[in-house]
Amino acid sequence: MTIKRRKTKTINIGAVKVGLGHPVSIQSMTKTDTEDPQATLKQIKALEQAGCEIIRVAVKNTNSALALGKIRPRINIPLMADIHFNYRLALEAVARGVDGLRLNPGNIYRREEVRAIALACKKRKIPIRVGVNSGSLKIENCKLKSVKLEDLMVKAALNYIKMLESFDFYDIIVSLKASSILETVAAYKKFSKRCRYPLHLGITAAGLPEQGTVKSAIGIGALLLEGIGDTVRVSLAGDPLKEVKVAREILQALDLRSFGPKLIVCPTCGRCQTDVVKIAREVKKKLDCELSTVNYQLSPKVAIMGCEVNGPGEAAEADLGIACGKNYALLFKQGKIIKKIKKSQIADALLKLTLKDRR
Ligand code: SF4
Repeated sequence: MTIKRRKTKTINIGAVKVGLGHPVSIQSMTKTDTEDPQATLKQIKALEQAGCEIIRVAVKNTNSALALGKIRPRINIPLMADIHFNYRLALEAVARGVDGLRLNPGNIYRREEVRAIALACKKRKIPIRVGVNSGSLKIENCKLKSVKLEDLMVKAALNYIKMLESFDFYDIIVSLKASSILETVAAYKKFSKRCRYPLHLGITAAGLPEQGTVKSAIGIGALLLEGIGDTVRVSLAGDPLKEVKVAREILQALDLRSFGPKLIVCPTCGRCQTDVVKIAREVKKKLDCELSTVNYQLSPKVAIMGCEVNGPGEAAEADLGIACGKNYALLFKQGKIIKKIKKSQIADALLKLTLKDRR
């Protein structure tokens, strides 16, 4: 099965193209004070290294808007400015060279203000993400008990889009985030049937890494499986590098992107007489390191199995693998055993076969 992605327009965020026909891109957000360009730059550089493809920064006041001018020329990935409440900050961010804005329809909505922002963005040919957040809508509409939150979110996005389009502005990306998976998924599904703008996916305030990883994988994964979503951000309370790591794992698990060797590792059971986890980590480290400069789409699926009896059969879909015995391991290819090797040779043997198969 392959995922059939929803048809969308293509929107450029700097050099990154977002929409059908382009890879689902990975975003994150800095957690430093944007007023401190050095700290923010340091974090962006680390995120770039980790694989972040679009970075968003919070612009809470004039000083942080001004700092964007120092940050933008020194980074290699597109910079999005996250603006709330004050439309003048959006204008300042545009003037400082950002590659896009995220606006919240819940707090910047006056027609004249939105018009001024849309015209400034149009002039610089940069997009606006209409970033609907359930938290901004609940208070305003809590009296309307009979209306579902997802419908309020969709309505807010559509109304905002209508307003932007009335200014002849069409460089739009949309997100509809709630902290509830069910409401988020419902909102994106409903919205995706209504228009062709690309979608930025995320579960907002998903939680601490252990909880947020699971929530994001379920919510973002459920949508991606249906072909919905063109760019993602995993929101975790903690180190933003983890956000990028998790986003990569989600995309790789769905075969939408490939960032490293695809490992299949058996969970082990009473038949296992070896440290499978240690071996799997060694193999991953070796393949990650040696293959870091190649196109991972060409990397084989590599299985690490804990016993020689069931291993090769259980991992028949893997291209290559090893099944560990007590003192040795069987090397197999497409489910067929090709040789017996010492356990100390596992990582090297798999790497050798991986490189050979790529030629
Ligand atoms: S491959 Fe062997 S050790 Fe691993 S779970 Fe299956 S039977 Fe158990």
